[in-house]
Formats: sequence, C-alpha cells, structure tokens
Amino acid sequence: MADPVERLASANREYGEYGGVNPSIEISTTFTVLDAKTLPDIFAGKRGPEKKEGACYLYGRSWSPTVHTLGRQLAALEDTEAAYAVASGMAAISSAIMALCNSGDHIVCSNCVYGGTFAFMKSYVPLKAGISVSFVDITDLDAVAAAFTERTKVLYTEVLSNPTLVVSDLPALARIAHAAGAQLVVDNTFTPLAVTPARWGADVVVHSMTKFISGASDIIAGAVCGSNQFLQQLMDLHTGPIMLQGPTMDPRIASELLLRLPHLPLRVQEHSRRAQAMAEMMEGVGAKVVYPGLPSHKHHAILKRMLNPGYGFGGLIGLDMQTPAKAEALMERLQNKHGFGLMAVSLGYADTLMSLSAASTSSELSESDKAKADISDGYVRMSVGITGSLEQRLQQLREAYTFVVACDGRPPFRATKVQRQPNGRMTELLSWPSGGPSEDHVAGSALEAAPAALAAHGPQAAVVLAAAAIADAGSRMVVGGEGWHGPHLHGQGLVAPATVALGVTASSAMGSDTCGNTYSDNDCTSDGEEAPRVEGGSVSPLTLTGVGKSRLGPSSSHNVQAVKIRKLDDDTHIVYTPLL
Ligand code: PLP
Repeated sequence: MADPVERLASANREYGEYGGVNPSIEISTTFTVLDAKTLPDIFAGKRGPEKKEGACYLYGRSWSPTVHTLGRQLAALEDTEAAYAVASGMAAISSAIMALCNSGDHIVCSNCVYGGTFAFMKSYVPLKAGISVSFVDITDLDAVAAAFTERTKVLYTEVLSNPTLVVSDLPALARIAHAAGAQLVVDNTFTPLAVTPARWGADVVVHSMTKFISGASDIIAGAVCGSNQFLQQLMDLHTGPIMLQGPTMDPRIASELLLRLPHLPLRVQEHSRRAQAMAEMMEGVGAKVVYPGLPSHKHHAILKRMLNPGYGFGGLIGLDMQTPAKAEALMERLQNKHGFGLMAVSLGYADTLMSLSAASTSSELSESDKAKADISDGYVRMSVGITGSLEQRLQQLREAYTFVVACDGRPPFRATKVQRQPNGRMTELLSWPSGGPSEDHVAGSALEAAPAALAAHGPQAAVVLAAAAIADAGSRMVVGGEGWHGPHLHGQGLVAPATVALGVTASSAMGSDTCGNTYSDNDCTSDGEEAPRVEGGSVSPLTLTGVGKSRLGPSSSHNVQAVKIRKLDDDTHIVYTPLL
C-alpha cells in the first residue's frame, strides 16, 4: 500500500482494555507469568511479545506493551516490518548505529546533518567506539561511492538535510550502499508521510519524534524503523543497544504520541502548504530562499520523484539573510513586532520556530565543516507553523523582510540626545533614526544603568534615565527585568521624584508590567487613569507607559535590550529606543 495514511488506517486497530477507543496505557515495568518455566524461556529467546505463539512481556526496558503498540503504528507509517519508539531522536540514531557497527567498522555520513548527529559521528563514535566516519557531500554520488571501504557498514543521511534542505537521492544512495554490502540509514524527521525512505531502499529509518510527530514541542522522543531482524538486534539481551543502553520511552509518552498520529497527516499538509506559499512569496520579493518545493531548488526534481502525493515538500524553509545582523533583525521583528513566530530551536511545532543555524543547531560544526555543509552565518531556518491565517503570516513575513532589507540589517533605533537642564528638566536636543549604539558606546540598558544612577545620584537620576528613554509624548517605554515592574518602580518612590526632576506630569503612570499585567496599588495608577498632578509639572505632559510585551517573565533579559543609553557626560545622554 503506497499511501502512508492508508497504511496507518489499515494497521491493527488497538482498543483500550475496557473497549476504550484509545489503547490502554500499560504502566507496569515487569510482567508476571503463570508458569515458572516461562521466564527462562523468555531469557532463552524462545518466547517474547513478538512471537506468534506464547507471546508475553518480560520487562519494560525491552518490549513494553504501549510502546510496542506505538511501534506497530510507526512501522505502518514508514512501511517497515517493525519499529520501536525510544526516548529521543538521538537515542534512535545512536541505537541504530551501535546495532549496525562494531569497533573497527566504518560509516559514510552526509556532511550536512543535524549538529547533534554530526557531533555524534565526528567525535563520539570514533572516540568511544573506535568506529571511523568519513563525511561526504551526499549529493556527489561519485564521492559517496569513493568513500566506502571494506569496513563500511552504514551509509547515513537525512532525507532533507538539517538545516540546508539538501535532498538525498535515496534510490541512488541505496544502490551504492547495497553494492558495498552496507546498510542505508535515513533520518526522516523533516518529512514524515511526505517521503517513505524504506520504499526507496533505506534499510533503517530514524525519527526525532520530538518534531512533527509530536507537533506540540512538549515531548522528546525518537523512533527506529526497520526489519524484524533489526528490531531483534536492538533488543538482544547481550548486544542490543535498546536493551543495554536503556534509552527507554515511558509508556505514558507512547500513549500521548499514539493520540497525535491520527492528525499528523492534516498537520503535515498544512505545514507544507504554508511553507510553499511563504517560499513562493519570498522568492517573489527577491529573498534568497531555500525550499525544495520551489522549482528553482537544485534538488526539486529529485525530491518530487520520491514524494508521496498530497503531503507537499515539508514545513521547513531556509532564508539566507547574508549576515547574522540581518538574520537576527528579521527574527526579532517577526517575533516582537508581529508575533509571527518564536525564536527557538527545534521544528514541527504549531507555531513557527526560527533559529540562526550556524549559531545554534549547527554550532557543533567547525567553521570549515560549516563551509563544506554550505551553512552561512546569516541562514535562518524556519519551521513554518500552522497558527494564524496564512494571509496574515504572509503579510507579516513580507513586511519584516522588506523592513530589514531597507535597514540593511542594522537594528532600527531612534536616537534621542537629551540633556538635563540646571532646573533638573530633561530637554530633547536632537532626534534621528539610528542603527543603534555600537557595543563600546553602550553605557547600559535602562535596567543596567539605573541602579548605578540610583547609587550615584539618587532616585531621580535613575528614573530620569529611564524616563529620558521616553522623552517624547506617546512613545513607548519597554521596561524589563526584576525591579523594573510597575509596582516596584513605584514602590521605590521613583516616579514622583522623576516627574519633579523632569518637570512633567505623569498622566498615566506605569500601568502594566512586562507580562502585560496591570497594576493599581497605592503608588501606581492603572492604565489610563489620571495620576495626581505633581509639583513642578509645568512642561508639556509626558505619558509614562509601561508596555507589557515580553512573554518571558519578570527576570527575562529580553526587554533589557529594548532601551539603550549612551552616556556622553553626566547630564547628556543619547537614548536609543527600538523602532518597532
Ligand atoms: N534528527 C534531526 C534531523 C534533528 O533535527 C534532531 C533534533 O533537532 C535530531 C535528529 C535529534 O532529535 P532529539 O532532539 O529528539 O534527540
């Protein structure tokens, strides 16, 4: 049966113990037998859960019923004889490699794989197990074939490479591996359902189920799929990596994943549909976009040939922004202005996740290995989410991209030169759009500068610094970090002196904190309420508004960067406020 959804539906339907529509969770770690002779039979390999006659379980670190149920579904998904679930994607990869290779053996590995896999192959396996590894450009089939030695047991690759989305030509790679008597091991984390590597010759398929299969970024899990004989190898009492290294999946987690498999196809279809639309739009505005669903992608045709119809080209796109500064500015704007997605590693989540690959999930690669894998410093990997409307997300992405390109990668700031007058008032001297302060000019964020100012000049100075950052009626002040919540600020009695020092009226004092909470305690008026007029308030009214903006909580460093102050002398400062 070619369609994985049809295979999943046809796989043995398992019901709960009392006829529940979901399979039961078997939490036991050990299993009783009726007859004392059964235990020695299991240890002797004569009986076990996978045997047709006298099936029985022994101990949760080997076969465990609920994990086994999930395994049968995964085998249906990947069209393999058998499959089993383990505690993480890395557990799946390391178990597969340890089952297939012994000390002295050799692996040919794609030079562009997930950073953890790369580190495992480059350092861990040679050091700990005496297995040598050659890295090759997986698209250069001659180089792949030439890398084989007499001891090569495994050819390892990812269907779509993480993060550069290079496509592995699985039938060609399988031919090379099999001709040399080696096995083709394929990581299908990026393309569940869309590609069935076993149909193109893969002997073993691994997954990080942490990603699309879970879909909620709440579970770390992995899968190993292959032949019955391979599963026996993994579980062998004497040499099996699952049995002996113990990367056991908890049955409760297996049950969670079983509940998510039925809507995996819908999620994958939507991730792909949106990724395709975003990639096309970005290509249209001239971005350097990498997506195998674009006919301009180098390996579009190869992937197209391997695709199961109806699931698209996957939910990952790459954007080469050329420099880290532009890449960071893009991600920050998308997250902080638009709520388009989140700056976080990982993928397959309902929301869009964005990360700078070179500095995160591929940071295990040396500079020269990154160059070989073609991972540039400005490359943003985007796992396209399925929240919000597609039109809304397209509009946000277009806006952020064109804005960042227009700013040429400099984080956009407004610089305001402010000077304290002899009467204590702050005067705005000049204001201009700016790329922000350079590192050596930053006296500190408002948060950092304020305690020093507080110590040196008393509360007025501290708040003058902060208030100066918003010395422009109606502009926004973002207050972040502990001690800078509305009530704290007011609790320390800082706003009133500041209003005196500034000679302004606080018409709406700090009404909300970084978490978006509003306050109305003794010192603090709630949003929109008129604060009492303060002595000395004779200049134009100034609105002090704390804008709740961070999702990261009170002690986050996120908003700390929002306001930067460059001190020119004791009375003159340049205040940089982000232009969002
Ligand atoms: N394989 C790929 C392609 C990945 O992207 C990752 C993690 O990012 C892994 C394997 C490792 O998976 P896990 O984090 O579940 O161990």
